[in-house]
Amino acid sequence: MNDIRYVWFDLDDTLLDHRGAESRALTALATHHAHFFGDASQSDIHDAYARINGRVWSEYAAGRRDKDGAKYGRFELLLRDLNPAGLDNAILLADEYLRLYASYWRWVDGARNALTRIAKHVPVGLMTNGFTEIQHAKLRQFPELSRMCSHIVISEEVGVLKPDIRLFRHAEGLCGHAGDQVLYVGDSLSSDVTGGVGAGWQVAWYGGEEHDSARVWSFHDWADLEQRLRPVNRP
Ligand SMILES: [Mg+2]
Repeated sequence: MNDIRYVWFDLDDTLLDHRGAESRALTALATHHAHFFGDASQSDIHDAYARINGRVWSEYAAGRRDKDGAKYGRFELLLRDLNPAGLDNAILLADEYLRLYASYWRWVDGARNALTRIAKHVPVGLMTNGFTEIQHAKLRQFPELSRMCSHIVISEEVGVLKPDIRLFRHAEGLCGHAGDQVLYVGDSLSSDVTGGVGAGWQVAWYGGEEHDSARVWSFHDWADLEQRLRPVNRP
């Protein structure tokens, strides 16, 4: 990995704990607005949301849903599933969910310090799928990300999502490096690993497993990534 000239990072569940914020927001939503969900329990709501949100996100990624159709549609489907009598509250719940979600954003343990140290000796950037305004709100809440990253790529602003190779080519154009001189650090097999390998980059798969490609290296401890990226003394 000592030939790496640029490191791109995924944001959600790599640097910031998206899943934790999502889960806490859903718990708070179901607690504060239990009457909208009829008899559904917390686990009913979490299970249904995970299933519906996954489906809605896939439809959005495939261009079969627009942004509002994803943002509000997942709560319409959730209420349709759990308590159709509460369907009129879908928009209120969707807006309240996003407010709560933002209140629970936190760094993934160890990620902030690792990114800070890595950024001192190799240029870094951020490349994320996600809704533009939500990702910009995260950047405002964690201004050190913009200070450390020389480029920030948000899929919605480019018009294609990971693992679409065009997003990776766009990133190569920005950073001025390509192929195995570029490393992508991310947690998702389908978006980050598949996309990075397809682009010919090296991939550090956070929380990942063994992978067939020699370009992919999995890590669970941020210190291991730092170790791999430690600069060597060049003559
Ligand atoms: Mg991710």
